[in-house]
Amino acid sequence: MREGSPFGSAVALAIAFASAASPSLAGTHPDVAPAGLGAAEGEYGATACSQGAAWNGRLQGGIPMEVKGEHHQLHGGRARQRTAWGTPDMVALLKRAARVVGTSVEGPPLVLGSISDQDGGKLGRHKSHQTGRDVDILFYVTDPSGARKRALGFYEFDGQGNCLHKRCRGWTFDVQRNWWLVRTMVWSKRPEVQWIFVSDPLQRLMLAYAARRGEHPEIMRRAKKVMAEPGNSSPHADHFHVRAYCSAADKRRGCRDGGPMWDWIRKPARN
Ligand SMILES: [Zn+2]
Repeated sequence: MREGSPFGSAVALAIAFASAASPSLAGTHPDVAPAGLGAAEGEYGATACSQGAAWNGRLQGGIPMEVKGEHHQLHGGRARQRTAWGTPDMVALLKRAARVVGTSVEGPPLVLGSISDQDGGKLGRHKSHQTGRDVDILFYVTDPSGARKRALGFYEFDGQGNCLHKRCRGWTFDVQRNWWLVRTMVWSKRPEVQWIFVSDPLQRLMLAYAARRGEHPEIMRRAKKVMAEPGNSSPHADHFHVRAYCSAADKRRGCRDGGPMWDWIRKPARN
């Protein structure tokens, strides 16, 4: 699909929903179901899923990401699945985001790295990834001819979006598809997304693209807060690291968030 049409269809959708008397922003994004169609909170049962903090916690009753789907695959295939267990909400978000991008801007599947071990806890050299709410995602890329290709690995990209690794010389960061992934993530209601770690220059490339395309101002505002280059680890010029907030149900059972609660995040109901 050529540039231009995806945002055109999003605008058309927004207008369609607006005329259906929906006062909220719901409906400005294809990822958002009309009110009433969402799954009930805590539908995955009484077992706690995400416990503790992202960097000191466990995962119970998580589910594994499939090795391959129509719009996604695990980097490293079956061997990766051992570390691709997430909360049901996280796994659902990844499948949904991959589908939204894959059907909005046609191309090869989203490539995923690790989420968590089956029961969470320390995962290799990662500081976080302990509770099924953190995931590493390879960038969408294009080859030297401009054709969209499947990401080959965790390769670093410079501030102009050029791959720096010798195995992907001439390849570039697919700004359009990567932005579609980001906008889907920041608009997710379940789970709500706290962070998308990615380097400052790559953020700027995506935000400039989005601004040129006339992106919705609320999506722009959220993306500017949620995207961050971490100060205490790698600048994330070679992959996205996405962290979801605890669900309200998990929070009641010991899931702990750290850091900012963005102003659009729903407060858990008191009871
Ligand atoms: Zn990570």
